[in-house]
Amino acid sequence: MLNFTVGPVTSPQEVCEIGSQQVPYFRTPEFSQIMKENEQLILEFAHAPKYSRAVFMTCSSTGSMEASVMNFFTKDDHILVINGGSFGARFAKICEIHELNYTCLNLKHGQKLTQEMLDTYNPADFTGLLVNMDETSTGVLYDVEMIGNFCKKNHIFYVIDCVSSFLADPFDMRRCHADVMITGSQKALACPPGVSIIVMSPRAIRIAQNTHVRSLYFDLNDCLLNGERGQTPFTPAVGILLQINARLKAIKKAGGAETEIARVAEQAADFREKIKALPFEFVSESPANAVTPVHPLYGDAYTIFTMLKNDYHIWICPNGGDMKHDIFRVGHIGDLTSEDNTTLINALTDIRRKGYL
Ligand SMILES: *Cc1c(COP(=O)(O)O)cnc(C)c1O
Repeated sequence: MLNFTVGPVTSPQEVCEIGSQQVPYFRTPEFSQIMKENEQLILEFAHAPKYSRAVFMTCSSTGSMEASVMNFFTKDDHILVINGGSFGARFAKICEIHELNYTCLNLKHGQKLTQEMLDTYNPADFTGLLVNMDETSTGVLYDVEMIGNFCKKNHIFYVIDCVSSFLADPFDMRRCHADVMITGSQKALACPPGVSIIVMSPRAIRIAQNTHVRSLYFDLNDCLLNGERGQTPFTPAVGILLQINARLKAIKKAGGAETEIARVAEQAADFREKIKALPFEFVSESPANAVTPVHPLYGDAYTIFTMLKNDYHIWICPNGGDMKHDIFRVGHIGDLTSEDNTTLINALTDIRRKGYL
């Protein structure tokens, strides 16, 4: 299968090879060393401020979204949630479940966040802000530096979900004054799902150290303490952490995060150029590099997804909910090439020839 989804994506060969080996025992100095290396490279690639830390959670990234909300906020907070799609809505739902005080800044699907919209809110009314840098359900990239300037005015605790944007779009945690960034193994990191990562600024670390979180597994201070010796409180997804290590080192060797981001950007630009020949339109005002949401002018988006899967052995990403029949998404992360884009365009051209679009 040729995989144009947004995760799990196609892993490079070296990552797959590690996946075929036995999983080693992990309470060893050797594994601790690998974890230390993982932490250093993540901090470097995220441009995290000095004395930041990264912890590796064995859960999907939603687990880390929830852990962040649980560890960094209390009932005394008022949180602004940027909600432009299913991932923004997920943050709102987490706040709801944990009975936190929050307000949603709602955006239409595909709509970008502007300074004017943000300016209708008073930063003095908020103590926290949650945003998904790339709202992957609609492919909209938010200006996280603009939001960071808003947060700075009232020392708003600023959490950015970079799950699909890390290593796909330029990100500098220092420049956007973020306190927390979250990412996961199965997006641009191109490893299997199962591990997510929380990067904490010194301010976030202080808060985690002083919170009494009502959770055993999602106690970030426990994760920080264990991480000091390159370990985790409980058995982590050891195999995936080894794969992440190989992948991070390969990115470093090839020139670092910026080189990888440029590669993904090129893959996206190549697809967006090639698809112009077909009757589709783009539906994002501020397109992220990781994914292109596409609206077929004729034909049904979900039928196209099914035909590509069954007849051409190509996966694209269908949308859920009320977008199911109008929009599908084409991912540009993972081990894909310009030739792969051509294969997809040829398949779509063939579907058009058959009269389905
Ligand atoms: C994929 C993704 C997540 C996490 O999804 P999981 O299925 O929990 O790994 C969170 N936020 C964004 C923006 C994503 O793209």
